[in-house]
Amino acid sequence: MKKVELLYEGKAKKVFTTEDPELYIVDYKDDATAFNGLKKGTIPGKGAINNRVSNFLMKMLEEKGIPTHVVEEISDRETVVKKVSIVPLEVIVRNIAAGSLAKRLGLEEGTKLACPVLEFCYKDDALGDPMVNEYHIAAMGVATKEEVAAIAGYALKINEILSDYLRPHNIELIDFKLEFGKTSDGTIILADEISPDTCRFWDSVTGEKLDKDRFRRDLGNVQGAYHEIMKRLLGE
Ligand code: ADP
Ligand code: UDP
Repeated sequence: MKKVELLYEGKAKKVFTTEDPELYIVDYKDDATAFNGLKKGTIPGKGAINNRVSNFLMKMLEEKGIPTHVVEEISDRETVVKKVSIVPLEVIVRNIAAGSLAKRLGLEEGTKLACPVLEFCYKDDALGDPMVNEYHIAAMGVATKEEVAAIAGYALKINEILSDYLRPHNIELIDFKLEFGKTSDGTIILADEISPDTCRFWDSVTGEKLDKDRFRRDLGNVQGAYHEIMKRLLGE
């Protein structure tokens, strides 16, 4: 499979068309941004790590019944994926209060939530990805009630599978962001990525942060943390 045309360059990935109208190639970059693009930097090796970690986790999810966009990893940084029309929602699941939730609700970071919390943000950089609920989503025509129900079901199931999978690796899944898309026949599948860029991973023994918060908060050893996640999951 070969890249034909650059369709879109985002903050962390490039998306290319291929000779197959149903397939794209995503190319992961080392660029990192935070705070809606306000903070910019580079994390050497991040693209390759996120590509491999995301594919590894999505394949694991696929085996447990979650449909994903992953078709084939073709290089360190590149993966063939099913083309979808992205549902413009950031679907966030939280197990432990951190980041914007801790701030918004005045909870100390690290507070265990009594049950998983599901949030939707409308994917719009210019608006700063505002939080929306099912009514906003239906009223704006972003997705139907049935689509939202399917997305919510998958997101909560992914949280269970992923939390259980990471636990023996001493990784605690604090929270994460997912994106879903629709294939040409209207089927909802998991798209985008699952990586230290999009999840909060804490070492369950030491509490050390092993994710993008090291970049956001200038905690140092960003590269080391990303590498540690890959090592624990893929053994290298
Ligand atoms: P951003 O757009 O937030 O800067 P990225 O740099 O990760 O994010 O760019 C990747 C873009 O590709 C995102 O907009 C994402 O929604 C989109 N995308 C991810 N997977 C697919 C897919 N299978 N088909 C079409 N678009 C996708
Ligand atoms: N997240 C993401 N992309 C975004 C916003 C959030 O991947 O544009 C992830 C983030 O890495 C964290 C979870 O979603 O794992 C919840 O993020 P939060 O709302 O706390 O926002 P942040 O603190 O990142 O601003």
